[in-house]
Amino acid sequence: MMEVKMKEEAKGHMFRGGLSEVATFASSMWNEMGSDERMPYNRMAMDMKRQRGDDLTKKFTSLGVSYATLDAEEREQEEALQEMTATVKNLVRSLPKDGGLKTRRFFVAHVNYFYKNSKDVYIPAEFAMASFSLQEGVVDHFHCFIDPNKSHLGFRFEANDWSQKTHSIPFGDSGWDRGVKSYYRLNGQVLQFIKNNNLEDDSIPPIFTMPDSLNNNTSISAVKSLFHELATSNDDVDEIPYRIYPLPQLFFELRNHCVDEAESTSYNQSLLKLPTVAMAENEIEKDLFTYAKNLGCSYHELKDLAVHCSQSIVFRWVFTICDNCCMHLGINLVLGRHCPHDADVDKFLDYETGNRRGDVAGAVSMPERGAAAAPMPGTSWSHNSPSSSPTSSESSSVWKVN
Ligand SMILES: [Zn+2]
Repeated sequence: MMEVKMKEEAKGHMFRGGLSEVATFASSMWNEMGSDERMPYNRMAMDMKRQRGDDLTKKFTSLGVSYATLDAEEREQEEALQEMTATVKNLVRSLPKDGGLKTRRFFVAHVNYFYKNSKDVYIPAEFAMASFSLQEGVVDHFHCFIDPNKSHLGFRFEANDWSQKTHSIPFGDSGWDRGVKSYYRLNGQVLQFIKNNNLEDDSIPPIFTMPDSLNNNTSISAVKSLFHELATSNDDVDEIPYRIYPLPQLFFELRNHCVDEAESTSYNQSLLKLPTVAMAENEIEKDLFTYAKNLGCSYHELKDLAVHCSQSIVFRWVFTICDNCCMHLGINLVLGRHCPHDADVDKFLDYETGNRRGDVAGAVSMPERGAAAAPMPGTSWSHNSPSSSPTSSESSSVWKVN
């Protein structure tokens, strides 16, 4: 708390009400922080707990929050992390190669937002989901703009600033009417999308997205925020148990399970495995398909800003996963499903014939599966090849990949 007092007074803020005013001020700061921002203080709490045997309910951080509260939050986050890790691990590792591993459908989602308000709610601008399997690549996707029509008092500069730096979706523009205004309606569409694509059962499967990163314009916090709004949009039913999990965890498990299931044992398989989830995250962040054509919605394609389009982003995530996993299961990549339409498919190996697709002179020797048989990720497609455009639609429409 004294740290806040000193910092604020250095900026000219006078606390005429003494420490009680500082405590109130610090408390409101705490409430506005996201979970990531709170982490350093949570760690401080854990350190304090280890070092002292004090009554933590009577000890407070520099922001005026009791260490007991932080301890409980830390425990809750740790439990949620363990549950998530176990769920994804069990989900993937239980899939047999010739069954579920190839055909299991997974869901990814991305949210573009304008700003985060004082209650940790992200004001969404654009939303996209995709379902995919390793066998089929992208199977289906859903895209829409969102206009929740909330009061934006005090956030206009922040919203316009972030929009201009990233997605360029108009904010507070009376001429812009392409956004869905009803979370209730949007929730119905999302549930229908999941129902159409979840071949396993009637449960709500985990939905994967990338962690918070301003540099990469990804935010698991924004996706969680939107799904919380959707989950609570119908007063007549209980909150829908959406689970939003980090995509690197799924990619890590999928890639390593595919390597385990590869037929060849002549190569040191362990070298092909991703050693850590952080490396899986790094591989997705490389975004090798950044400039692939015609993946975005028409608005962003027209503005030449598909790199920030939610629809393009979910496609690129799936393509990166397929590029790293399909080769180990002998799955041939299909344009528009496993890789961009402008990928140079002639360089791919046909796993059924052993030929390069464009090799009319005859067969090439079939490399061992799992031994870098297919082109290395990111080298198998051309930015310059002519593309065929997928027939995409937007504004809460569903486009089926045929
Ligand atoms: Zn878009």
